[in-house]
Amino acid sequence: MSKKPSQEEAEQAVRTLIKWAGDNPDRKEIIDTPARVVKSYKEFFSGYEKDDQYIKTFKVFENNSNYDEMILLHNIRMESVCEHHMVPIIGYVSVAYYPDKKIIGLSKLARIVDICSKKLQLQERLTVEIAQKIELVTEPLGVAVFINSSHQCMTTRGVHKTDASMQTTYMTGKFKQQEYKQEFLNNIKK
Ligand SMILES: [Zn+2]
Repeated sequence: MSKKPSQEEAEQAVRTLIKWAGDNPDRKEIIDTPARVVKSYKEFFSGYEKDDQYIKTFKVFENNSNYDEMILLHNIRMESVCEHHMVPIIGYVSVAYYPDKKIIGLSKLARIVDICSKKLQLQERLTVEIAQKIELVTEPLGVAVFINSSHQCMTTRGVHKTDASMQTTYMTGKFKQQEYKQEFLNNIKK
């Protein structure tokens, strides 16, 4: 990848877009907007800084009680950015795993959702990525991920279908078996 642009170069790019939109970036009310946009981008795209090595540092616990049922975290708020139009994808994610020897704090599952979603994404890839990162840390018997989201590229532009939502699921290991897949799907519909 080419060298990361400086803060100043990024702000300059926002000024260009403001002009492209038809406004004047030197208008006093919006003079600081490029700096604010660039700062917001740091947050929207913070997932790029968190690689697998970082995720591997998440603390896991030994499954001492031999818990062998599904662990489900339901309706985690997700904010991502569509890689085709660079507008928000907002939705909810449910993740589940069947533990083997390791279990992980629930907040870490939510962190994994954040890390995977805070970059340019496709919902299909996001769904798979979340499952892969959970597998990486917990080495479970299976992972299931469900995402229900609204894509602003569809609701606020283009076809303007405001009520359409997109649902994706991805299952690994044990969840490939009908019985467990169904258990997951039943639980998230509750
Ligand atoms: Zn889009």
